[in-house]
Parts: sequence; structure tokens; C-alpha cells
Amino acid sequence: MGDLLVVGSVALDSVTTPFGKVDEALGGSATYFSYSASFFTRVRLVATVGSDFPEDHVRLLRDRGVDVTGLQRSAGGRTFRWVGEYGYDLNEARTLDTQLNVLATFRPALPDALRRVPYLFLANIDPELQLDVLRQMAERPRLVALDTMNFWIQGKREALLRVLREVDVITINDAEARQLAGEANLIRAARAIAGMGPRVVVVKRGEYGALMLAEDAFFAAPAYPLESVFDPTGAGDTFAGGFMGYLASEGASDGASMRRAVVYGSVMASFTVEDFSLNRLFRLEQPEIAERAAAFQDLMQVNGRGPEERGARGR
Ligand code: AMP
Repeated sequence: MGDLLVVGSVALDSVTTPFGKVDEALGGSATYFSYSASFFTRVRLVATVGSDFPEDHVRLLRDRGVDVTGLQRSAGGRTFRWVGEYGYDLNEARTLDTQLNVLATFRPALPDALRRVPYLFLANIDPELQLDVLRQMAERPRLVALDTMNFWIQGKREALLRVLREVDVITINDAEARQLAGEANLIRAARAIAGMGPRVVVVKRGEYGALMLAEDAFFAAPAYPLESVFDPTGAGDTFAGGFMGYLASEGASDGASMRRAVVYGSVMASFTVEDFSLNRLFRLEQPEIAERAAAFQDLMQVNGRGPEERGARGR
């Protein structure tokens, strides 16, 4: 089992969907990622919050075994805040406000213990900071993955292109893949992004699932069919947590493992969207992950008959 380091945002999110709203709820790319990955492997978090960040939120991460020694609290600073909304098309988040606050000046100095982890996830945050963390690693990690969003593609494109040259995997949603590549066709966009550095491109397509380009071959997984989706916020980061958490737990980074990792990512994301903030993840029990992964396999069977066949095989 390999340790997994994540650097990203820890946030207070205010989110409105057609099904309700939350005000200043726990969020952030590194939060969703680390909570999700903690079901698979040991996770170490590097992030910053302000003095206004509730200690109870930190406890929730610590209780899941997330190593929060790299979570800096800036005295007198305000925590990063994101305000967003979704219409009936839950695939598209509209950002209403981004307040970087303590994130604007955050430059972590990684302690020695964190400079040698084999798995590194550069969650959605300023690409200059992503590069800075990557440069601090004493040894090249076995696998480096990165996530980003429109805010940075627009605002820090040059820095993003620089860090992209050095990562193995990018996870990105479909609209942002098109924006980054300047290409409307998603297949061409994925290929163009692979040309920017990463050997694996995972495009997250919300309710349509995920598409992975690796070693010049495509792999597609559907999203788990859910009848009640309340809040898609964090789905992408939770996906990445399942994806990287699975790979780290297997000590793997080969193509076949990555296909299974896409399924575990999709499984974890399917839980997150069932409630606001991380509320569904807080109630998640380990056996539910294996159950949903099995249901996923049934969903993806092309030649089999589904659950009854699984029973017949005695699994
Ligand atoms: P997603 O998994 O793509 O839905 O990401 C949602 C999370 O991204 C929210 O919890 C936000 O706090 C966080 N977020 C939004 N904008 C930014 C940004 N510019 N930088 C870092 N994190 C952000």
C-alpha cells in the first residue's frame, strides 16, 4: 500500500441546486479527494485554512485517518470560499464567486516525510502551487496526477501548461477539456491534452460517466444510474480520490489497473452526489463500496446476463 499525498483547496462552499442549498458547508478539492481516498489507502493532506475554519471539520478528516499535519491554519486569515449554483442540468456548475483568501498567498514547505510519497495528487488549485509542490519532491513519485478547472485554465494558462508537462495523469471535466484544448470534439480534445504531457487523460462527463485515454486506447465507464442526485459538487474530486486511492492501495500504475481505478472513482463519485457537501460520504460504510463496485460490473457487462450470473458464479 502506497502513501498518497494531496495538495489542493479546503473550502467553505455555498451551493444552490434545484433541490436545495447549503451555506458555508465543508468543501474544497483536497477535502473531497482525501476523504474519498481514505477508504483505500493512507492519505496525507497539504492545504491551508483561515482562523474561521471550524475545528469540527478538521476532526471529520482526522477521524477518517487522513494525516492533517500538513493543514496550515493562517492566523487572522479567511478560509477559501466558493459560491456556485447548478440548474436542472447538473453537469454544469456556474461559479458565482471565488474568494481565494488564504489560498492567494499559500506556499507550503513540505516536511521531509512528505517529499518521498509514491503517489501524488495535485488537486484543483493554483497551477503555480501545483508545480511548486511537485518540485519539492525528493524523488519523482511513481504516479503524479493533476486536476484543474476553468478558473485556472483561463487565469493561469502558462503555469498550467508548465505543470502539465510533468504529470502522468490529468483528470478534467468535459467542458474544461474542450476549453483547455480549444477543441469541440472530446476525442480530439483528449488527444490534444495528451500531447501537452500526461500519458493518461481522464475526462469526467458527469452523468455520462468517464472517458479515459491511455496508451493510445480509449476506455469508457458509465456513471452509476441514480434516481436522486442532490448536489454534484465534489463529484470530480471524489472520483479522483477513488481513482488514486485504488491505485495507491494496489501499488499500481499500469493500464489495466487504471481501468479498474476509473470504476472505483465512479463508485465513489456516485455516493457524493446523493447529498450536499460531504454528507453522504460521512455516512458511507466500507462494504457499500464493494457492493456498488459489483453492481457497476453488472452494469458494464456486455455479454453476461447481469446480477443473476454473478450469483451463479458464487461471488
Ligand atoms: P468538483 O469536484 O469539480 O465539483 O469541485 C468542487 C470543489 O472545488 C468545491 O468544493 C470548491 O470548493 C472547489 N473549488 C472551486 N473553485 C476552485 C478554485 N478556483 N480553486 C480550487 N478549488 C476550487
